[in-house]
Amino acid sequence: MKLKDKMYIIQYYMKAYSLNAYRIYNSIPDVTTREFAIINFDNIMKRHILVRDFNSFKRILIDENVKELYHSSAYYLFPDKPMDQKEWRGADLIFDIDADHIDRVRLKEVYICKKCGEVHNKPVDICIRCGGTVDKVKLIDSEALNQVKNELFKLIDILIDDFGFKEEDLKIFFSGHRGFHIHITNENILNLDGIERLEIKDYITMEGIDLVTIRDPNSRPIREIKRILREKKDELNIYFSPNEVKVIRDILNRGDINFYHFLKRIRGRRGFIEKLNKLLLKEGSVGIDGIVTVDTSRLIRAPESLHGKTGLVKSLLDLERLDGERIISESSPEEKMTSVYVRYIPRLLWGDYELNETFNERIKVPLTLSIYLVNMGIAYDIRDL
Ligand SMILES: [Zn+2]
Repeated sequence: MKLKDKMYIIQYYMKAYSLNAYRIYNSIPDVTTREFAIINFDNIMKRHILVRDFNSFKRILIDENVKELYHSSAYYLFPDKPMDQKEWRGADLIFDIDADHIDRVRLKEVYICKKCGEVHNKPVDICIRCGGTVDKVKLIDSEALNQVKNELFKLIDILIDDFGFKEEDLKIFFSGHRGFHIHITNENILNLDGIERLEIKDYITMEGIDLVTIRDPNSRPIREIKRILREKKDELNIYFSPNEVKVIRDILNRGDINFYHFLKRIRGRRGFIEKLNKLLLKEGSVGIDGIVTVDTSRLIRAPESLHGKTGLVKSLLDLERLDGERIISESSPEEKMTSVYVRYIPRLLWGDYELNETFNERIKVPLTLSIYLVNMGIAYDIRDL
């Protein structure tokens, strides 16, 4: 990154953190019991930070040249001591949905030469200009967020319908980059240990589920496999042998059938069952980053803080008004337009701004998009208009 752009971006973060300090501070329940961590503009992480009050919080944000801010999902007696002396007192339950964990979501890709910076629009093994090695870079935009949103809704349904959380228990955030976070601070979950959280995670991702071992006919795996087979009714031959397809079609055609008994009946056919298990995992899982949910001392991005790549805020979302365009617009701390020189950029939808595919041109774009493109290495020289 050019020094001038780095200075510009540091200024942007300093201003946003200074203006948003109170908002960030207020959005974190039980601030004084959390471990805080920062990543500064030299990309150095400092952790085990205790925040005593708002003034010390604001001082950290300003003095430490903060790019990214994190806090523990856990509550501790001594947040600033080493891990083994912190004295854990519970943790929020956190879910992280990231486009990178969802095969169904297709992000736009560019290929950047590590040596000369040339940006290619198609996959190449080596740089066409200089022969250098090439990095694949995936880009998020409002369109992709709309796809990730479907995954978010699935997760919300499971948390409410199957786990019995109330909508007001769930705080839903845009992560600032490729997805969403759900924070649950309900006291019923505070003391769940790692094993219990692992079970919750497996229920959501369907990992390790064997359909024939399930005893509850109304459980989610049974409901899901039924839904998936119905949905894929016309393409079953991709997954199953002709004989298996016939068996499935028969049962589907019978109307309101009992899938539980069906599974019991075929339990001896291990190959068939394995195919069903695999299909369930592929089509019935919700794409969460499991480790975030399971780890009881995880550091998570602080609400209302800025993402280091996009300059967008991790903002609290209103479920009633959730679309990819709005998410990016409402997570931009400043509405300002800027200009930036773009090497190559595919068609992108960034909030309300639709950008066509562009090669080697100076373009006018919203400030956060300039920051994102520069951070991703596909543009340079941000200027105010
Ligand atoms: Zn090159």
